[in-house]
Amino acid sequence: MKAYAMLGLNETGWVEKQDPVCGPLDALCRPVALAPCTSDVHTVWEGALGERHDLVLGHEGVGEVIEVGDLVEDFVPGDVVIMPAITPDWGSREAQRGYPVHSGGMLGGWKFSNSKDGVFAEKIHINDADANLALLPQEISPETGCMLSDMMPTGFHASEMAKVTFGESVCVIGIGPVGLMCVRGAVLRGASRVIGVGSRPICVEVAREYGATDIVSYKDGPIAEQVLDMTDGDGVDRVLIAGGDVDTFAEAIRMLKPGGAIGNVNYLGSGDSVRIPRLEWGVGMGHKTIHGGLMPGGRLRMERLASLIVHGRVDPSLMITHRFEGFDHVEEAVRLMKDKPQDLIKPVVFI
Ligand code: NDP
Ligand code: ZN
Repeated sequence: MKAYAMLGLNETGWVEKQDPVCGPLDALCRPVALAPCTSDVHTVWEGALGERHDLVLGHEGVGEVIEVGDLVEDFVPGDVVIMPAITPDWGSREAQRGYPVHSGGMLGGWKFSNSKDGVFAEKIHINDADANLALLPQEISPETGCMLSDMMPTGFHASEMAKVTFGESVCVIGIGPVGLMCVRGAVLRGASRVIGVGSRPICVEVAREYGATDIVSYKDGPIAEQVLDMTDGDGVDRVLIAGGDVDTFAEAIRMLKPGGAIGNVNYLGSGDSVRIPRLEWGVGMGHKTIHGGLMPGGRLRMERLASLIVHGRVDPSLMITHRFEGFDHVEEAVRLMKDKPQDLIKPVVFI
């Protein structure tokens, strides 16, 4: 089969690979719509996962089931499905401990474009198909459905981790597609004031549509200072991080009220340590909690998130700025994701 892969550090290209084999609990899909992720960029151009050779990229897409294993009960060839970025082993001990996303070891549920070939391929292997796949509701187009693989579940997870609740103030650091979904997630959980941090005008526009009340640019000076100024020195109840780097945590801690919480979904692609400022962390006693997590997968979660789209609570299609038709355009879409032109939020390739 043909696939688009990381050939080595800083290098991508088309490769021929053997077709995947469908085990008894598995499914094989053909791609219907695919999207690249900033994480693919961290993987190839920042070497965040280390050296990889001919690893097929991609973990966001909608597929059509073409084969199922003997023990798969709920899916049949022809079904159009959401292929989640995270596909845990649901029988693992980590899953029984409540963290399927870490099945088989830390981050082990992230298989596509990490520990096994990703979705930018003519045939895609899905483990534990009954537990990991979800039917794409007919009301949702395959392009929009791609946002259910990773952007929506990840962005919404930030609010879950930080436990945003009614009337709270929230700062969302980074308003790329993940941060935009953080904004919408916080609004749906009842946040009052939502301050978005970013600079691309297209992202600012969509952030406002999703319910951001204020926008701050990190290019105008330290963001903690700006947020403290805007809040009469009080800071915010919750900080959701979907952009920046290891130093961003220092800003987040500074702008957080005592008792507040950070929900980080940003992938720290470089740097050895995260800096936590001693004084602003209440010399260790400020009750400022830091959570960081990979999006949880699972069919039920995917179905619930899809129902939010069906019932008009969120429209992730606002984030799709570039549309392509034809598998070959995956290459162009990945390049766009790397270069991040001013008018880009998210590209999608319809196959
Ligand atoms: P983008 O690059 O599109 O967006 C990043 C955002 O951060 C932009 O708004 C950018 O501003 C802003 N930003 C950049 N530098 C800074 C800074 N120094 N301080 C504050 N804000 C800054 O990324 P995505 O939205 O696609 O992804 C966000 C992160 O989430 C990535 O690291 C990605 O790998 C990760 N991720 C994590 C997952 C998980 O499960 N935990 C899953 C998927 C992705 P500007 O407007 O200027 O561009
Ligand atoms: Zn991703």
